[in-house]
Amino acid sequence: MLRTVPAHVRTDVEVSVDRGYMRRHISPARRLPVAALSRALLDAWAVLLPTECSGCGAADRALCPDCRVALRPAVHQAARDGVVVWCALDYSGVARHVIVAFKDGGRTDAAAVLAVPLRVAVAAALRSAPPPTVTNIHLVVIPSSRMAWRVRGYHPVELLLRRAGLAPTRALRAVRASVDQVGLDRTARSENRRGSLEAVRSLDGFRCIIVDDVLTTGSTLLEARRAVLAAGGEVVGLAVLAERRRLYPATYCSFKTD
Ligand SMILES: [Zn+2]
Repeated sequence: MLRTVPAHVRTDVEVSVDRGYMRRHISPARRLPVAALSRALLDAWAVLLPTECSGCGAADRALCPDCRVALRPAVHQAARDGVVVWCALDYSGVARHVIVAFKDGGRTDAAAVLAVPLRVAVAAALRSAPPPTVTNIHLVVIPSSRMAWRVRGYHPVELLLRRAGLAPTRALRAVRASVDQVGLDRTARSENRRGSLEAVRSLDGFRCIIVDDVLTTGSTLLEARRAVLAAGGEVVGLAVLAERRRLYPATYCSFKTD
C-alpha cells in the first residue's frame, strides 16, 4: 500500500503529487549533507571491500558520480497495446549496465540509487490515476520465478520499492512456468506470458499500480494487468524503472524531474 516515504530514504529528487496525498520537498540545504554522507559511505565501502562502478567499471566506487548523474530520472510515458506505462529511465548505456548488474550480478549496492527513479515513476503513475487516489493504492509486483529467486535471493522490484520507502504487495502468483523472455520476439513473449499469472485472492475493491523493472514488449505487465482485472481489481497505473526504447520509440516525454 502506498504510504509516505520516511525522510531518511529521500534523496535529491523531489516527488510532488497533486491532490494532497503525497507531497514532499527537500530543500537544497537538506540535500547537501545527505549527498556528502552518501559519498562518504561509498568511499568507506570501497576501502572495506574494493569494488568497481556497476555503470562504467571505474575502480573503488560502487557507483561513480558520473553514473549517478546518468541515472537521474527523466519520466516519460510509453504505450503497449494502448496501455500507458510510466517509465523513469531509458534502458540503455549506464542505466542498462547498472540495472543488469543489480538484477543479475548481485550488485544490490545500486539499490538505493535505482530506487529513486522507480519511485518517481510510481509517483507519476499515481498522479495520473483516476480519482479517488488518496488512499489504498497497492503497489503490485510481478512474482519472481523460483529459479530467479534461487539465483538472486531477492526480488529486485520489491527491494527497490522498499529502499524507496514504499511497500510492495504480492497479489499475483504464477500458475504455470514461462520460459525466460530473453531472445523471444514480441509475439512469442505475449504467448509465453498469456495466462501465466493469477490473483492470490478475490480483488474486489482492490486498486493498484503494477510495478516492474524493465519494460520491453510489455507482455509481462499486460499479463499482470489482465490477472488483476480478472480477479475484480482495478489497475490505476503501470510504472517501471526503465524502458527499452530500441524496439518501441517513445511516445513523448512528459516531464523531467531533475
Ligand atoms: Zn561509473
